[in-house]
Amino acid sequence: MRVKCVLCDKIKTINDDLPLAKRLRNRPIHTYMCEPCEKRITEKTLAKKQQAEPAE
Ligand SMILES: [Zn+2]
Repeated sequence: MRVKCVLCDKIKTINDDLPLAKRLRNRPIHTYMCEPCEKRITEKTLAKKQQAEPAE
């Protein structure tokens, strides 16, 4: 199936058998993020978490 990354609008084709594809089909509201964007978000989230933790 074809999916579009919510962040960079890149169109990607993913295997229909992937659990991710099934999830996207069952829940259209569930948005797809390509790997580079997902990585970027994860890193950003982790960085924010580290900043929020009090320094010891
Ligand atoms: Zn992307």
